[in-house]
Amino acid sequence: MYNVMSPKAEEFISHEEVLASLAYAQQNKNNRELIDQILEKARERKGLSHREAAVLLDCELEDKNQEIYALAEQIKKDFYGNRIVMFAPLYLSNYCINGCEYCPYHLKNKHIARKKLTQEEIVKEVTALQDMGHKRLALEAGEDPVNNPIEYILECIQTIYGIKHKNGAIRRVNVNIAATTIENYRKLKEAGIGTYILFQETYNKESYEKLHPTGPKHDYAYHTEAMDRAMDGGIDDVGLGVLFGLNNYQYDFTGILMHAEHLEAYKGVGPHTISVPRLRRADDIDPDVFDNGISDEIFAKIVACIRIAVPYTGMIVSTRESQACREKVLHLGISQISGASRTSVGGYAQPEPEEENSAQFDVSDNRTLDEVVKWLMEMDYVPSFCTACYREGRTGDRFMTLLKSGQIVNCCHPNALMTLKEYLEDYASEETREVGDKLIEKELDVITNPRVKEKVIDYLANIHKGERDFRF
Ligand code: SF4
Ligand code: SF4
Repeated sequence: MYNVMSPKAEEFISHEEVLASLAYAQQNKNNRELIDQILEKARERKGLSHREAAVLLDCELEDKNQEIYALAEQIKKDFYGNRIVMFAPLYLSNYCINGCEYCPYHLKNKHIARKKLTQEEIVKEVTALQDMGHKRLALEAGEDPVNNPIEYILECIQTIYGIKHKNGAIRRVNVNIAATTIENYRKLKEAGIGTYILFQETYNKESYEKLHPTGPKHDYAYHTEAMDRAMDGGIDDVGLGVLFGLNNYQYDFTGILMHAEHLEAYKGVGPHTISVPRLRRADDIDPDVFDNGISDEIFAKIVACIRIAVPYTGMIVSTRESQACREKVLHLGISQISGASRTSVGGYAQPEPEEENSAQFDVSDNRTLDEVVKWLMEMDYVPSFCTACYREGRTGDRFMTLLKSGQIVNCCHPNALMTLKEYLEDYASEETREVGDKLIEKELDVITNPRVKEKVIDYLANIHKGERDFRF
């Protein structure tokens, strides 16, 4: 039944293969010899199979677990250095016809405020986001063909790219909307989206169908095969994710890696990003009714094992996680984080009144973007507002080839410094600017190519004089 090259969800995420992998991992969780072999393979930085990664996830040998964490940290450093790409979500509409049991936007929730941003409201929200310093957005919308048809999403994207306010600009719009047709994916591609993001929620078909009792999302195959259709529609950067807490975490960990293997084998490009959200409290949603919650320790182990298994895939953690938890997983493999997020429809331009709460989930990290940027820099990370690859046409397999060869770092690091400089000049508090300028000075020494270094110094001076948007 299991066939990585099959177009059918039930064959590339074969339930039997997942169960066999979980059994294999359980049998071998203390098998020192096998774990050593897997770690040896992982050190080549070419990734691991889902079965091998499942063994590491279950491993109970303390010394080997320490090796797993150390290797994840090293791989993170090799592929991503100390850069962390920043983004913010923008909720367009919370009208939704699906019945997802873990999301407050489900159709039967009659007490949540339903909202949909008008184009005028989008201008206000995006202006507020630009004024914080954001350059990269993830658009979110519920599934509702009447209220949120594809034409509405396309219009919103066009509006967002058109907003130029002071030195602000949204340079990359990623989109997280419901599974759709190849034709609609083509339209999104033509509208200039960056990554198409769609969370699987859970790969376990039986649980999936129970958690999605009504609405189009109930169709497991249509949802799971969406990334194949997105790629057929010309989108070559896709972002996977599961919602940890809905189902057995080992199952979903194995499932997401099988999905990544499928995209790589069948479409020639693995996922651009993997998100690791955990279930959070929200209006009408009590996370305690789902009994698959995972501890911070398991969460960290999942992040480390994903980093090792798919070294070339960006990994995202949102403000669902607290500052402390984000701090713990950043060095284990996270490459992108959101900052100063509002998870309601509207709320950036003006905070929502309490009685009009339209949030999808409670945020655990409520700091401003300036605070998040400063916090990252004080831990020696370089916050990056870079969006260069997509704008230089480095997407899909072109991007992956550069990434796998390790060459992308020659672009990422200078771009991170230049976009950080833009942020410091235009939006940072004095204190943050001071920390940032010192960090940039120090980071210039990391650039080994003298010609590149010279160019960066030149560009930084020009940014200080008021010019913008330099990139490699
Ligand atoms: Fe709708 Fe998405 Fe929420 Fe499900 S998870 S109810 S599809 S917004
Ligand atoms: Fe991302 Fe490309 Fe910028 Fe690197 S250069 S941070 S890969 S957009």
